[in-house]
Amino acid sequence: MAHACRRLAADGLVIGTAGNVSARAGENEVAVSPTGAVLGELEPEDVTVVDMEGEVVAGDLEPTSELDLHLGVYRRYDAGAVVHTHAPMATALSCVLDELPCVHYQMLLLGGAVPVARYATFGTAELANSVLDALEGRSAALMANHGAITHAGDVHAAVELSLLLEWACTVYWRAAAIGSPRTLDEDQRKAVVSAALKRGYGSTKPAERGTKGDG
Ligand SMILES: [Zn+2]
Repeated sequence: MAHACRRLAADGLVIGTAGNVSARAGENEVAVSPTGAVLGELEPEDVTVVDMEGEVVAGDLEPTSELDLHLGVYRRYDAGAVVHTHAPMATALSCVLDELPCVHYQMLLLGGAVPVARYATFGTAELANSVLDALEGRSAALMANHGAITHAGDVHAAVELSLLLEWACTVYWRAAAIGSPRTLDEDQRKAVVSAALKRGYGSTKPAERGTKGDG
């Protein structure tokens, strides 16, 4: 948890106390970053553990103000970890777009096009509900005029998805600055999925002598 927070800060995805991270700790408990903490300086002893109702079961610090949002993701999507950031490019696009179009095949790891959840005040049930709806069938969403959220099986993977989302937002922003970005249609997206399954994309494997080539 603490390492994930410091990684997000080192990569510029969280600045100061903005953003929060959580990870499942066993069947019925969740470790969360505390409210008001500078994530780039988070230490393991700063992490708070809550139960699924949000009651603190371990730790000295009050949990993040977006606790209901995090717990909602665990309840509805059976996630292992949740990362919420105010990353610069994701937040900029969240002020303009209704959806981040699928402009690159790596975005399929996020679920394809990334929806933008409608705006509501931070920490409210209204915000949690709109973000949970936006995450239907996906592992990432933007939050209008606020930031971004990702979830995955563990905290390392959730951080990686947040980095990927910020990269995708940057690609889209640069492309949109010089023209109308093309998007991948359904056939192209399906072809990526079958190619990835065939090749085991994203994992290393032993070289076969006499072959070459890589996507
Ligand atoms: Zn926030």
